Amino acid sequence: LVSALANELTRLVGAEHIVTDALARFSTDASEAHGVAGHADAAVMPGSAQEVADVLAWCYAHDVAVVPRGGGSGYVGGAVPVDGGAVIALERLTAIRELAPLQWRAHVEAGLSTRHVQRLARENGLYYAPDPGAAEQSQIGGNVATNAGGPHAFKYGVTGAWVTGLEVAVAPGELIEVGGPTRKDVGGYDLRSLLIGSEGTLGVVTAVWLKLLPAPEQRYPLAAMCADARHAGEAIAAVFGSGVVPSAMEFLDAHTLELAGPPFPDAPSATGVLVIAEADGTGPAAAAARGELLEALREHATSVHAPTNSAEIAALWRWRDEVSLRVVAQRGGKLSEDVAVPVDRLVELLEGLTEIGTRHGLDTCSWGHAGDGNVHATFLVRRDRPEEVARAERAAHELFALTVRLGGAVSGEHGLGVVKRGALKLQWDEKARELHAAVKAAFDPKGLLNPGKKDAFSGPADRASA
Ligand SMILES: Cc1cc2nc3c(=O)[nH]c(=O)nc-3n(C[C@H](O)[C@H](O)[C@H](O)COP(=O)(O)OP(=O)(O)OC[C@H]3O[C@@H](n4cnc5c(N)ncnc54)[C@H](O)[C@@H]3O)c2cc1C
Repeated sequence: LVSALANELTRLVGAEHIVTDALARFSTDASEAHGVAGHADAAVMPGSAQEVADVLAWCYAHDVAVVPRGGGSGYVGGAVPVDGGAVIALERLTAIRELAPLQWRAHVEAGLSTRHVQRLARENGLYYAPDPGAAEQSQIGGNVATNAGGPHAFKYGVTGAWVTGLEVAVAPGELIEVGGPTRKDVGGYDLRSLLIGSEGTLGVVTAVWLKLLPAPEQRYPLAAMCADARHAGEAIAAVFGSGVVPSAMEFLDAHTLELAGPPFPDAPSATGVLVIAEADGTGPAAAAARGELLEALREHATSVHAPTNSAEIAALWRWRDEVSLRVVAQRGGKLSEDVAVPVDRLVELLEGLTEIGTRHGLDTCSWGHAGDGNVHATFLVRRDRPEEVARAERAAHELFALTVRLGGAVSGEHGLGVVKRGALKLQWDEKARELHAAVKAAFDPKGLLNPGKKDAFSGPADRASA
C-alpha cells in the first residue's frame, strides 16, 4: 500500500510535492519533550484546496490515515503522525484570496503564517489581535484548528472570535464552506464552531474568512512587580474593579523572571510576580485608560514600569513573546500545561502548582494570560532523563485534577492532541463525552482523520483520581 500511496499522491500533487523518505521534519512538533514522535508513510504538500480534497478522497477510499499539519508549533502532538498514514502539510496554501480593508475583512488560505496575517492587517490600517507565541511558525489554519489564543485574547477573543467562515476538506473527500464573509449566520447548527478547535480530527481547513478591526492608535503596557502571588491576585482584581478592559493582562512568576532574564532595563531583581496590563485605543482614550490602570496596579505593586515610547513598548512585548523559548533553553525541555481556571481561583491554582512541583522534586515555574485565568504551568525537564519526564507527567495529572476542582479546564489553549488524550474524563460527564464522540463519528465514520487525537474516552486520565 505504501508504494501505491506514493504513486497515487504523486499523481495528485506532483513528484516535487511529496516526501516519502526524509520524513523527520513531519514526525514531531513542539511536544517533543513529552516523547511524542511518529512516522508518516508519506507527506504531501497540496497546491490548492481541491488537491487537499483529492488527497483526502484517495486516502479515505483506501483506509489511509490523514494527519493535517500546519506550522508544527503545537504543544500536544496534534500534528504528529503517531499511527503512520499521510501527512497533509498546508504550507503551499498561502494565497490571499481577498483583502477588503474598507469592510475590515480578509479571506486567506490556511497555510499563511500567523505573523503574515497580522502584518497584512497592520499594513492596511487594521488589526488581527490573536497573537499565539509562535506566530512566525504557526499557520492560520493551525490556529483555527487549535482555536489558539495569546495575550490579546483577553479583550479581543481567541482565534475563533475572528472567523466568520471556513472552507474545509471533509470526508470522504469534498470541499465544503461553512459561513463566509457575512458576519451573521445562524441558519444551521454551528458547524463552523465545531470545526474551530477540532485539531484536524473533523476535516482539513483550506481557507479562512476573517473579520478584522481598525488598529488601535496607541498601546500602553504597564508592568507591575508584585511581592507574591497573593499581591498579584489583588492587582488583577483591582484591574477588574477599575472597569477598564485591558487589551492584555499577563503574569509571570518569580522563577520565570529568573529564567527568562530581565523584562526591561533596570527591572527590579526578580523576587516577585510580574503583572502586565495594557491599555489601548485611540490616543486620548488609551492615555486615560493607562492612567486608571496605573492607579489600580500601583496600590498592590512594589514598582510599576510604564513605558510610553514605542521602542520600549515593542521591546517589552518582544521579551514576553520569547519567554517560552528562553525558559526551555535552561534545561533543554519542559512540560508546559495550559490549564485555565476562573480568574478568582488563579492564586489557589498557582499555590497548588508550587506545592505539586515541590512534592515531585521538579523545577517548576509559571506564567500566562492572567485575565483569562490561563496558566502555562511548566515543569522543566531534561529530555534524556525519562524518569524526570515521567515524574513531570504525574505532576501534570495532579495539576489537571486540581484545575477541575477549581472549576477550570484541562486545556485553555493547546488542545488535547495525543498528550492529553482522555484528560476530558476529568472535566466532562460521560454523556457529554458520548456526544463529543458522536460528532467525530458523523464527520469521520472511518476514524481516519488524525486518529488518536482529541479523544474524550481513551487515555490515562480518570475522573476517579480527581
Ligand atoms: C513558543 C510557543 C509559544 C506558543 N504560544 C501559544 C499561545 O500563546 N497561545 C496558543 O494558543 N498557543 C500557543 N502555542 C501553541 C501553538 O503555536 C498553537 O497551538 C498553534 O495554533 C498551532 O498552529 P500550527 O500551525 O503550528 O499547527 P500544528 O502544530 O501544525 O497543528 C496543530 C493541530 O492543528 C491541526 N491542524 C493544523 N493545520 C490544520 C489545518 N489546516 N486543518 C485542520 N487541522 C489542522 C493539526 O493536525 C494538529 O492537531 C505556542 C507554541 C510555541 C512553540
